[in-house]
Amino acid sequence: MTTSTLAPVATGTRAAERPVAVAIAAFLGLGLLFMAGFSPAIALHNAAHDFRHTQNFPCH
Ligand SMILES: [Zn+2]
Repeated sequence: MTTSTLAPVATGTRAAERPVAVAIAAFLGLGLLFMAGFSPAIALHNAAHDFRHTQNFPCH
């Protein structure tokens, strides 16, 4: 009669991993943003700049 304890443990583990997943996703997203923004390749920089304008992000 110990099978009922598996599901709550798995649910608690999943909820505890959520902040870690958000932090990893934010880190990767910011990494992509800074790589594109500060890239010496002008084409990549311009593509990131154009995307920022399409999202109505204040730029210049
Ligand atoms: Zn701009």
